[in-house]
Formats: sequence, C-alpha cells, structure tokens
Amino acid sequence: MKYIYGPVPSRRLGRSLGIDPIPSKTCNFQCIYCQIGKTTFFTNERRNYYPKEDIIAEMREAIEQNEKKIDYITFVGSGEPTLYKDLEKLILKAKELSKNPVCVITNGALLYNSEVSKALMLADVVLPSLDAGDSQLFIKINRPHPSLKYNDIIQGIIEFKRKFKGKLWLEIMIIKGVNDSNENLLKIKEKIDLIKPDRIDINVPTRPPTENWVKIPDKSIIPLVKAIFGDIYDITFPEKGNFDFYSLDFEKEVLSIIERHPMRQDQIIETFSTENFNQKEILKRLKALEYRKRIQRIIYNNEIFWKLDI
Ligand code: SF4
Repeated sequence: MKYIYGPVPSRRLGRSLGIDPIPSKTCNFQCIYCQIGKTTFFTNERRNYYPKEDIIAEMREAIEQNEKKIDYITFVGSGEPTLYKDLEKLILKAKELSKNPVCVITNGALLYNSEVSKALMLADVVLPSLDAGDSQLFIKINRPHPSLKYNDIIQGIIEFKRKFKGKLWLEIMIIKGVNDSNENLLKIKEKIDLIKPDRIDINVPTRPPTENWVKIPDKSIIPLVKAIFGDIYDITFPEKGNFDFYSLDFEKEVLSIIERHPMRQDQIIETFSTENFNQKEILKRLKALEYRKRIQRIIYNNEIFWKLDI
C-alpha cells in the first residue's frame, strides 16, 4: 500500500484507517512541532500529486479488508491533505465504499478556499489546528507559506463551521514557553469563541518535534487551559494499541507507518513481534535501517522513538 496506512490507534479516533494523498512533507506550513520532520516541499499549490485512480484502487482494497475493524477513515498523513486538488472526489469515494465516518485532519489553512470548503463539507468530522491567537505567534509556530494570511485562515474556519453539518474538533498544540502563557491562551480563547468548535482537543508535543527546542509544557498547564477554555478534550497522553500492517515485509511496513507517524520503540516491538520474529531481530532490523540512513533513533521525553531520517 502506498497511499493507505493502518488501521492505526488514534487518541481521538479509535482505530483509524489513514489515507495519505500527499507526498512526504509536502505542506503549506513548517510547524516547529511537526512530528514528521522539516517540510521538504513547501508549497501552497493544490494539485493531484498522485493519480486519484491509484489512490481509489488502494482505498477500495484497504476498506474491504478493514471495514469491520475501524472506527474512522481519515484523510491525513505525511503532508497537508487539502493540497490534493480532487480531495472532494476522494472523500465521496470513501463514503461510497464505507459505512464508517470519514474525517479530515488538516492545518485548516485553506478552509477559506471555496473548493476546499466544499470538499470538507462532505466529511463527518473535520479536525483543523489552531495554535496561535494572533498573526505574530502564528508565524512563529506554524511558519506558513507567505501567501497565507492569519486573518483569512481564521475567517475561513469560522465560515466553514457556520455551514458545516458534521463535527468540527479544533486541535490546539500547547508548547512550553511559546503559547502557554495566560496572555496567549486568552488570545486563542477569543478565536475559539468566534469559531465555536464542537470540541477543543488539547495536545502537547508528545512525539519528537522538528525543532529540538520545542518542549512539552508542565502538567500544571491543563488546569490553566481548562480554566480559560472551559470544556476541553485532553489528548496529552501517548496513544495505546496495535498498528495493523499488510505484508510480512518488516522494512516496508515499518517505513510505511514511520513516514507518517514516528513510533516509540516499544510500539514497534509490540506491533511486529511474533514467535519467529522476536525483539532481538526487530532491533537488529531497525539498526540496519538506521545504518542505511532510512530512519533515525531519537530519545525524546525519556522514550526511544524511531522517525524518518530526512
Ligand atoms: S504539523 Fe501538519 S501542518 Fe504542520 S508542518 Fe507538519 S504536516 Fe504541515
């Protein structure tokens, strides 16, 4: 599978089948906390990065195999999914092929674009991000494409939510010393009040970030965030559960997940261990991939992670 990954365990979506229509690190943001690494193709151009027929063929096969094992079909992955021009057609196809709800995880930057907004109206859940209450902090955290303006983005999310019949869950990444002050949280709250999301998902950088100075805030942040934002959905914990895979080719399968989602070493061992393929063998194979500069080992927050070497 080139465009599909999982089902993977998700903190917000239970078991999620990921559809990734964008090449690795193709994005209109360069977030300081991005878990996938530096944006290598920084663009705001919407186009069909891969033939949609190829993506649909894989969707058909993966949905057939997993329909009963998943909670959501999720457009997400190694870049910003709304940069795929025919996203509307892909969402329609997913809804035709599956009875499971379809969701889109997006940085929210293009919701003001009428084509993107029309496409996402078809989803059941849309999960945009909002990490800053003003343009200055937005530029510092998300490092957007120069053609993107903060006020347009906020207005786009507000307008989209007003018309959207599904659920909009707003994700806010709280970063120590960057947006976790009382003043910054109050500014974000002003925007939340305008957007009126169905849920506010509070996240912290639980996986290794692009910039190594990005840090997880102190635990005391959650009561402060609750006091300012009100009802929140706390996703500041690591996900649990197994990742599914499609073949016995360890290298291919582990790279397919890590490309979109750095994995803790214990998750890799839990996912791939079998009677004939034990922890020692898995660690040997990971080291071999590291030696070939395909993946890198990182200690972050006292845990061993493996992420792509880019
Ligand atoms: S976190 Fe998402 S929006 Fe930000 S750079 Fe990474 S892929 Fe792009």
